[in-house]
Amino acid sequence: MSDTGSSARQSCDRFLDEALDRLEVDEELRHLLRAPYRETRFELPLKCDDGSLKVFYGYRVQHNHSRGPFKGGLRYHPDLDLDHFAALASLMTWKTALVDIPFGGAKGGVNCNPRELSVGERERLTKRYVERLDMLIGPDHDIPAPDMGTGPPEMAWIFEAYAKRHGFEPAAVTGKPLELGGSAGRVAATGRGVAFITAWAAEEAGLELADATVAIQGFGNVGSHTALFLAEKGARVVAVSDRDGGRYNPDGLDIKAMVEASRQEDRPAVSVMEVSGETMEGEDLLTLDVDILIPAAVGGVITGKNVQCVRAGLVIEAANLPLTLAADAALADRGIPVIPDVLANAGGVTVSYFEWVQNRSRYYWSEEKVNGELEDALRRAWEDVRKMAKEQELTYRQAAYHLAVERTLRAIELRGF
Ligand code: NAD
Repeated sequence: MSDTGSSARQSCDRFLDEALDRLEVDEELRHLLRAPYRETRFELPLKCDDGSLKVFYGYRVQHNHSRGPFKGGLRYHPDLDLDHFAALASLMTWKTALVDIPFGGAKGGVNCNPRELSVGERERLTKRYVERLDMLIGPDHDIPAPDMGTGPPEMAWIFEAYAKRHGFEPAAVTGKPLELGGSAGRVAATGRGVAFITAWAAEEAGLELADATVAIQGFGNVGSHTALFLAEKGARVVAVSDRDGGRYNPDGLDIKAMVEASRQEDRPAVSVMEVSGETMEGEDLLTLDVDILIPAAVGGVITGKNVQCVRAGLVIEAANLPLTLAADAALADRGIPVIPDVLANAGGVTVSYFEWVQNRSRYYWSEEKVNGELEDALRRAWEDVRKMAKEQELTYRQAAYHLAVERTLRAIELRGF
């Protein structure tokens, strides 16, 4: 991971502080909104397939639940610490408030490299993770979902481990396979949302999406779906990359063929997908001369060091916290609009909410309905942010934080302590 936990946390605290200053919030309340409600770290011993023992750490940070149960993804990645999860958990609080769904914010995971574990090892690790958290999660307490390194299989194992202790309850976890009460449209929801927001932001910036060139860092769940939906809207996706390198074609990559190739059994790296484009160095993608740059991989990739080389006219934060504070300030100084993570990638948690609603009512929606409701929810959030940014001369991030913090404060005020 290119960012440290402490710098991720500093960024979140700074964005929050700016909103709290503007809202003239007193010191005690500031403390309440900055500090997580609960931080948990626990040992996770795993008996490996070869009989050896490995000890990992599991984490769950629950940031705020004033507006509803804690909600947030589960990340499997080797370089993680409690500060990282605290930063990501607070982002979830602002994200759920911004799209106005009745959840708070949390985040968790395991400091493992999932690519080095067999399916059986990942299953045992995930089930043990749930065992250790036990009473801290549940449909009215804290609801996990997929994030980097996890997906529907992990969610299915969480479902099973939870059911074993508490009975059948599909709403205890979202992002499940369809056969276990997952929602139509959930897998693609974050990328679909990024594409909606990109189209509206491009229009606002005076860019014609059908003529625009786009570079996307990361070709996992979020990056690949974003690329597909933008290509469908007529955008020219000229570069995509993953952790091993990238692929470039100034006339536009054949994204459909690349997505198909990425779904093969052996999951080839982007750089060797000969179905389209030429190989390129992954880090060069960030400084390509394109209209729209979409970091959709890890945090802290655009920093004080490389930000001056960024040539895009619009930056969409599909990943969480892809910009350091220095990079954020530099882009604002240069007048380059940045659509913040709390808005750009909120499609995933929005459809997770729809999944939870469907699970609780035991009545399932068509994919068309899910996608329509998603577009409506994101359109409302985008319009709120756009209007506030314009009226109060704020950046999109400042406007988004202002709205989200204001909503959270209102819930705290109404509930009392
Ligand atoms: P994923 O594990 O499916 O894919 C991650 C991708 O990033 C892979 O292609 C990987 O090779 C690439 N990558 C990793 N390190 C890289 C590097 N240094 N340079 C270039 N590429 C690199 O993860 P995902 O679910 O697509 O999540 C991506 C980002 O989106 C994360 O920041 C995550 O927090 C955020 N996000 C995900 C969701 C979701 O629903 N999955 C929702 C909201 C936000």
